[in-house]
Amino acid sequence: MFEENMLRSLHVEAMSADEVGEHHDHAALFQASTIAALLEGRFDGDLTFGELAREGDTGLGTLNALDGEMIALDGQFYRADHRGEVSEVAPSDKTPFAVLVEFDPDTEMVIDQPADFHDLRAQLDAAIGDRGPVIALRIDGRFKKVQARSVPRQEKPYRPLVEVVADQSVFEFRSCEGSLVGFRFPDWSEGIEVSGYHLHFIDVDRRRGGHVLDLEIEDGLARLESSSDLHVELPPGVELGPTGEASGTHDQIERAEKNP
Ligand code: ZN
Repeated sequence: MFEENMLRSLHVEAMSADEVGEHHDHAALFQASTIAALLEGRFDGDLTFGELAREGDTGLGTLNALDGEMIALDGQFYRADHRGEVSEVAPSDKTPFAVLVEFDPDTEMVIDQPADFHDLRAQLDAAIGDRGPVIALRIDGRFKKVQARSVPRQEKPYRPLVEVVADQSVFEFRSCEGSLVGFRFPDWSEGIEVSGYHLHFIDVDRRRGGHVLDLEIEDGLARLESSSDLHVELPPGVELGPTGEASGTHDQIERAEKNP
């Protein structure tokens, strides 16, 4: 069953797991469940990575039981565990939250001087201009430092995400090459999504990675794709709730996903 919503200029279409892959749209972003559901402790989803792979090759998320941070790059799915160590995800593994795109960048931005996370975001904002409303991005570069986190696998009964994140481990990768993958969602989509920049990192050897809290980049190439369509797979019991300030999730998202 389809449910369609217009959120400002973002066209949101909801579907169930058995419809995934049937209506794949090259230009649309695909998302499994919502950030609001994850905040509530819904850490088991019903989509396998094999199914997810039909919807995109680039993106981020997590695995069932909140078993690490997920990074999708070039059609490969990786998991960064609570030590920041990366392994490949099996096609039969499932996800409670993931955002993917079939990456086809429309804009490039060269990063030719060192920048901290704040400066990098400002440069990206300028390059993006009024494109959007959603931006998928990949930045390949050399980094002086990447501060990242991951979370330990959870046991039932699951706790709310903000409590779990209190046990997150934070690690710092220094002088490394790698890729940042993620999205910039508008503030008014908060609740379905994490607003602002949400980036995951994986190093060039595919050995270390995590959810990015802070960074300093030396140089690199950013590639961006804008989209105005979001397809959301809703597991049983999960709905597209209120968004933006009305969603009431702002403080929790700040605590769970942003730099403390
Ligand atoms: Zn993340």
